[in-house]
Amino acid sequence: MTDPTISERYVGALMNTFGPPKLALVRGEGAHVWDENGKEYVDFLGGIAVNALGHNHPALVAAVTEQLSTLGHISNFFTSGPQVELAERLLALVPGGETGRVFFANSGTEANEAAFKLTRKTGRTKLVAASGAFHGRTMGALALTSKEAYRAPFEPLPGDVTFVPYGDAEALAAAVTDETAAIVLEPIQGEAGVIVPPAGYLAKAREIADARGALLWLDEVQSGLGRTGRMFAHEDSGVVADIVTLAKGLGGGLPIGACLGLGRAATLFEPGNHGTTFGGNPVACAAGLAVLRTIEEEGLLEHVTVLGQKLRDGLAADPRVSEVSGEGLFIGVVLPEGNTATVAAKALEAGFILNNATPDRIRLVPPLVVTSDDVEALLSAWPAILDQAHEEGRP
Ligand SMILES: *Cc1c(COP(=O)(O)O)cnc(C)c1O
Repeated sequence: MTDPTISERYVGALMNTFGPPKLALVRGEGAHVWDENGKEYVDFLGGIAVNALGHNHPALVAAVTEQLSTLGHISNFFTSGPQVELAERLLALVPGGETGRVFFANSGTEANEAAFKLTRKTGRTKLVAASGAFHGRTMGALALTSKEAYRAPFEPLPGDVTFVPYGDAEALAAAVTDETAAIVLEPIQGEAGVIVPPAGYLAKAREIADARGALLWLDEVQSGLGRTGRMFAHEDSGVVADIVTLAKGLGGGLPIGACLGLGRAATLFEPGNHGTTFGGNPVACAAGLAVLRTIEEEGLLEHVTVLGQKLRDGLAADPRVSEVSGEGLFIGVVLPEGNTATVAAKALEAGFILNNATPDRIRLVPPLVVTSDDVEALLSAWPAILDQAHEEGRP
């Protein structure tokens, strides 16, 4: 008898929260990964928009290794250079960051939990979120996440949350009252399949929040830090948010999240209001600094803009694609045939990792360092992948 594979052992050892894993991966380099059988894939998922610098980037490896061998963890009774420097760098980058303050967490959902609690310190409890929104899986963030299947088993959820259609400024204006603590929005919705709101939507949301004395909280967990070809997806909207949450790309694969409080939201928390044992630890912060530095040193914003355009144009060229949404390397591909699960499966067989975000929307969020060759490889395989998926779907 042969030994069981990693994937076979998985089902006997791990809780069944994700369904069976598609692959067991053993190694990565740039935008490429290898599975336990040695098969190579081009990774257009990037750990779900996390591996900004790809796999095994020397700058990230060096920063983490050096920090871990100097000082790895200290608790929040103490601080460290990397923690303070990362907070300063983020505030220097975010619109309106001059008087801001940062709370570090370990994930997107925890960054959003911090933000959720921060909104309570306004003295108001009501929140307005958007349909299609994804803000995480802990109880507070789940209360802001609209998908019924995620919510239903865990109700009652905390909060006092109203959902409005995403992108509809009038519906937002109607839902926000003088009792609203905050409006929470993704500048571009990720899990929903990369949905870009109409131009001017965020500016309208800012006006509505101001008119009612509510905070505007932008969840940039997926859209932030270079993904759109800009550091923040909302930075060209002219909007200064009160709260910006970050995570996915920030650590380049190390777990870290951040809740940025700007303006009056910067100082709502007082000692004892919130905490975390691991959040802001030196290693995760050193990783964050390496990501920010590398985005700048390697000119990745420009690279993302150029390659994103090439990828979107190439994918859209196939007549079976009805729409390609998104900005930079934050891309949704609409397939009206509704067969994205089959398309992703055929792509995987062909050596490409894609994500079927919804039945009719493929999501691509590759490492920001994905190369022109990687993009060309996917584009030349794309028609055959769609052919095979179509064939398989025939009765
Ligand atoms: C992924 C995501 C989260 C949750 O992040 P986790 O690290 O999985 O907890 C929150 N908000 C948005 C917009 C996300 O894409």
